[in-house]
Formats: sequence, C-alpha cells, structure tokens
Amino acid sequence: MRIILLGPPGSGKGTQAQLLVQRYGIVQLSTGEMLRAAVAAGTPVGLKAKEIMASGGLVPDEVVVGIISDRIDQPDAKNGFILDGFPRTVPQAEALDDLLKHKHLKLDAVVELRVNESALLSRVETRVAQMRERGEEVRVDDTPEVLTKRLASYRSQTEPLIHYYSERRKLSTIDGMMAIDEVTRAIHRQLLALGAVEPKTHGKAHGKTHARSAAKAAPAKKGAKKSRAAKKPTKTAKKAAKSAKKAAKKAVKGAKKATKKTAKKTAKKTTRKAVKKGAKKAAKKVTKKRAKR
Ligand code: AMP
Repeated sequence: MRIILLGPPGSGKGTQAQLLVQRYGIVQLSTGEMLRAAVAAGTPVGLKAKEIMASGGLVPDEVVVGIISDRIDQPDAKNGFILDGFPRTVPQAEALDDLLKHKHLKLDAVVELRVNESALLSRVETRVAQMRERGEEVRVDDTPEVLTKRLASYRSQTEPLIHYYSERRKLSTIDGMMAIDEVTRAIHRQLLALGAVEPKTHGKAHGKTHARSAAKAAPAKKGAKKSRAAKKPTKTAKKAAKSAKKAAKKAVKGAKKATKKTAKKTAKKTTRKAVKKGAKKAAKKVTKKRAKR
C-alpha cells in the first residue's frame, strides 16, 4: 500500500503515520525527518537545508525528490509506504507521479487531514511542551513565528494538491480534529473504501501489499490451527477416554470388592482363630478341673 498524508503542520500527520506503520507493516517516509537527520549529520544535503528549514521555507524540489526516490528503492519500502510531508508542491507531486511510473509503482490513496487552523498553534505548543517534558530536543522551527510562516506556505503551495489529487480521484478527506484513534479508524475506513486494504485488516501487517508477510504468517497460522485441532478430541480419542473411564470404574469396583473379600476372609480367619483359642482355653480349664477331682 502506498499512500500520502496531506495536512498543515500540527494536523497529526506524523502521529497517524506512525499508527498506520504499526497497523499495516509499511514504512513512514517523512521528508522533514530525513532532512533533520541530514542536518544533524552535516551531510551536503543537510548543509543546504539547514537555514531554509530553520526559517520555515521549502527546501528545493530536486533535493527532496532525490531523497524520496532513493528511499523508495530501499528494501524496507517494498511492502509499501506512507509519504509524510511530501509532496508539498504541485511540481513535487508531478515529479512523484513520474518516479512512481518509472519504478512501476501505483499510488493507492491521498489522505487529507483537515483541521481547524486556530487549533494548530495550541497543538504545536502542546507538542513542544510534551517534548520538553520527555527531555527531547525541540525543533528549531516549532515556534509561533515559524509556524505562521509554515502555515502560509502550506496554504499557498501545498493546498493546491487537494485539487490535484481530487481530480485524479485519489483524495480522501478526514476530519483531523477528532480524537487520535477516531482519526485512525476513519483513515482505515477510507482505505477500505478505496480498496487499498483488505476488509480483514484489523491488526499489524495485514495490508493488501503485504502478501509476503501474510504468506510467511500462513504456516504459523496453520500450525496454530493444528495445535488447536490437537487440543480438540477426535472420535477415537473420545472412545479411548470412555473405555479408560469404564476400566477405571471397574478397577475401583473390583478393588472395593477385593477389599471387602479380604476383610471378610480376615474376619473369618480371626473368628476361627478366636474360636480355636477359646476352645483350647476351655478344654484346658476342663482338664485342670478334672485333674483336681
Ligand atoms: P515537516 O517535518 O514535514 O514539518 O518539515 C520540516 C521542514 O522540512 C519544512 O518546513 C521544510 O523546510 C522542510 N521540508 C520537509 N519536506 C519538504 C518538502 N517536501 N519540500 C520542501 N521542503 C520540505
């Protein structure tokens, strides 16, 4: 599955992308993250992008298109990907169409997260506060001034993509103001409606383009079925269990009988002995008496 997440800064694209990654077993390709990594590593791309990013401007198209093209060729992107933060302009969208065509890949859907702009500033403020709490490094472009610039750039350069993808019947618009899990569910429903995922996709890594993982999972499933079947008694096993039960009952009965018999025998023996002893005693007494006389 290959999808694009569209939305202004603070709309929750990153959060949703991560959840989709877990659910469908695909990778998130975020140009912003890749550029930040390049800046941190001090690569030529990073050096080019650093100032532009800090001011909230857009890095040249050829730079981001190059990064994305290379990233899509990586083995982990074979199962599918979510583009987050790319394309950001119509020329980038056209470049993406070309490179996907060249790589014989198809785009399944473009999901737009629509949010109330007045809420964006407070969302970004919350994000910054949470990152500080966790001791994480805060982005240099997460300030109210730069955010205002990023929003203006979204409106003028990225919003035209809504028309671009809607014309190509790829666009799905989701209310990004809902709770995080509601947005995730809404995205899943849209992907279902577009046929990008199969109806039974409830958990991790069950996407349509995930046939290889599904095939890998299949033997495990079969195994699971087998062990479940093994737990379920067969007719023969049931019969065997029944006869074993019968045999056990018989054995208990037999044991009881045997105990009774032994008890009877012992009692008889004891009685006989007692009688003999008594008789002997009595005889001795009689002999003694007679001798006295
Ligand atoms: P993001 O993390 O998506 O908000 O991106 C952070 C910054 O990286 C943006 O403000 C831009 O300066 C730069 N950037 C990310 N993606 C692109 C892109 N597709 N085209 C141009 N610049 C980008």
